[in-house]
Amino acid sequence: DDAGNVKVVVRVRGFVKRERERGAECLIRMDPGTQTTTLLAPKDFDPVTGRPATRKVYEDKEFTFDKSFWSHDETDPHYAHQEDVYRSFGEEFLDHNFDGYHTCIFAYGQTGSGKSYTMMGTPEQPGLIPRTCEELFERIQQDPSPNTNYHVHVSYFEVYNEHVRDLLVPRLTPPMYLKIRESQTDGVYVQGLTEAEVKSYADVERLMKMGDMTRTTASTKMNDTSSRSHAVFTIQLKQIQHSLLSDETIERCARMRLVDLAGSERAKSTEATGQRLKEGGQINKSLTTLGRVIAALADPRRAPGKGHRRVKDVVPYRDSVLTWLLKDSLGGNSKTAMVACISPSDYEETLSTLRYADQAKRIRTRASVNQDCLS
Ligand code: ADP
Ligand code: MG
Repeated sequence: DDAGNVKVVVRVRGFVKRERERGAECLIRMDPGTQTTTLLAPKDFDPVTGRPATRKVYEDKEFTFDKSFWSHDETDPHYAHQEDVYRSFGEEFLDHNFDGYHTCIFAYGQTGSGKSYTMMGTPEQPGLIPRTCEELFERIQQDPSPNTNYHVHVSYFEVYNEHVRDLLVPRLTPPMYLKIRESQTDGVYVQGLTEAEVKSYADVERLMKMGDMTRTTASTKMNDTSSRSHAVFTIQLKQIQHSLLSDETIERCARMRLVDLAGSERAKSTEATGQRLKEGGQINKSLTTLGRVIAALADPRRAPGKGHRRVKDVVPYRDSVLTWLLKDSLGGNSKTAMVACISPSDYEETLSTLRYADQAKRIRTRASVNQDCLS
């Protein structure tokens, strides 16, 4: 077994048009030497309204994470490109997968902070998911050993409104929702989810495109679907190794989960009404439950029921669809990481994200190699 803390990194993006237009000030500093991230108090104006800050008092806040990615201005020598984020953070998790460990990377942050850019990216600037898949097939193709067989499957689903929807099947009206099941052997899983076998990166590319097209398109004035749904991309890598010498067959089966969470502002309030309010409310449920799960795992001694029940009994995984599905990734058999994505000029949302990330650092997981000897 390999016990360790959840790895937490932070990434700040550049200004978008809207921020440039209002002459936004960058409130983030990162020290590449110490990996310290500082959130500066806005001096002259309220970061939300843009008017002079009179009522609220802000102060500078400092945090330290495993890595801090400065993606604010490309002219800076420390600027972190998509490739840099993959090389110094994402790649390690692919290594773990080949070693037989389950892994999980999830992106947290407010809407517009760069979660999807970091996880999926664009065709010109691919993010962690396409880079991981591309390199996975490179490694398989470069393996000179004729005694290892590889099988790769991918699935892609979203949790929307506390329902699970398969993104690898065409959209149906009425939509078809999948059920979650839990079994002794397979743990928690989505029943009937498409697990597509892929033989090349081109296969994966086609499925990623299809999945992104299938993502729900209902939209509110301010927020697109991705702000309200959680997208979970899963790669399943099976390695079957046959030793001619001992005539043994060893099977390693490891899973990588890449999660693009709903906008963190969704954990608080929604101004929408009617059906939209219902959706907003239920998304709050998965996100707020995730917050409670992280709090319970980060600080097991403060969990309720101390002395009577064990920690694993009081973590409220089953209170939401997302946390139930991510149970293993969050507190179990997995090497897990979180990317906290932050906007450069939003004091309150950024402070809330950095605090959340700071808490996630304290979570410990215990990963073991998923290997069977079939001799
Ligand atoms: P989220 O998924 O968190 O809502 P997005 O990933 O959609 O946010 O990012 C919001 C906008 O900012 C998009 O236009 C995206 O292309 C841009 N963006 C985000 N991060 C970066 C980055 N590191 N470099 C360049 N552009 C970025
Ligand atoms: Mg997004």
